Amino acid sequence: MAQRFALMITPVDADEQRADFSDSFTAVNPTAPALSVGELSTQRGDGVFESIGVVDGHAQEVEPHVQRLAHSAKLCDLPAPNLEQWRQAIALAAAECGPGEAVIKLILSRGVEHGPAPTAWATAAPASDFSAARTDGIRVVTLDRGYDLGAGERAPWLLLGAKTLSYAVNMAALREAHRRGADDAVFVTRDGYVLEAPTASLIIRRGERFITPAPSGGILHGTTQLSVYEYLADQGLTAEYATLTVDDLAGADAAWLVSSIRLAAPITAVDGAPLPVDAAFTAALNAYLLSPR
Ligand code: PLP
Repeated sequence: MAQRFALMITPVDADEQRADFSDSFTAVNPTAPALSVGELSTQRGDGVFESIGVVDGHAQEVEPHVQRLAHSAKLCDLPAPNLEQWRQAIALAAAECGPGEAVIKLILSRGVEHGPAPTAWATAAPASDFSAARTDGIRVVTLDRGYDLGAGERAPWLLLGAKTLSYAVNMAALREAHRRGADDAVFVTRDGYVLEAPTASLIIRRGERFITPAPSGGILHGTTQLSVYEYLADQGLTAEYATLTVDDLAGADAAWLVSSIRLAAPITAVDGAPLPVDAAFTAALNAYLLSPR
């Protein structure tokens, strides 16, 4: 897509039923200011979001994304989103995308300080070119996440399973990975279990088994990981959830970071030690992830 697109959304009640929500959308100039300085999303990162991959104008895995938006909103005590309203906003944004890869972002914020309602908007923009990461792979380092595997269930106020706008820590972890000469990071709990990357889910292959850390461990349930698991099931392959240690990752037969925009990036090294890459399988996986889903 050549141009960016932005749509302000007036959120309506979750149970309001309408065939057409277009009068709750206002297309705005994506390069002009659109938010109030009292916005709690910008002041505190207090809100939730989704990033949806778009391929040739087709928004991928819309349903898992809107469901996760609702799940994140619930964890943050935000008003439940009207899913049909968000589906229609996604359709409008996707129609602006044209050929190639793009990204639609959905944002649901607590709103303006002392304001009556949450603020919501959607944007569409060209996606970065991730073809090198998909084919040549990425080196990862493991980074301490600072809590143990039980923290998510023990302390729900940490919002570990919500896709909140507070990504400063995730971005800091990526910078630390770059400082250590790697491309990306894998978070590790204090008790030694691998979790996820700052913006992606981890999947490893051990023999014929594909394994990802269970979302109960305080991580996001990735829509791409769910989609990959459907693909694996269709191929008759075993895909499961389990707790995984750093040694499980370092000793894997193959491993990937998967996410909505970069798709499947094979891991070529963990903390400087090489990991085997299955180039043919990875190419097939990315071909599937680029097909309409
Ligand atoms: N984990 C984290 C922390 C993320 O930020 C993301 C995506 O941005 C993912 C996992 C992967 O989620 P998805 O596959 O839905 O993009």
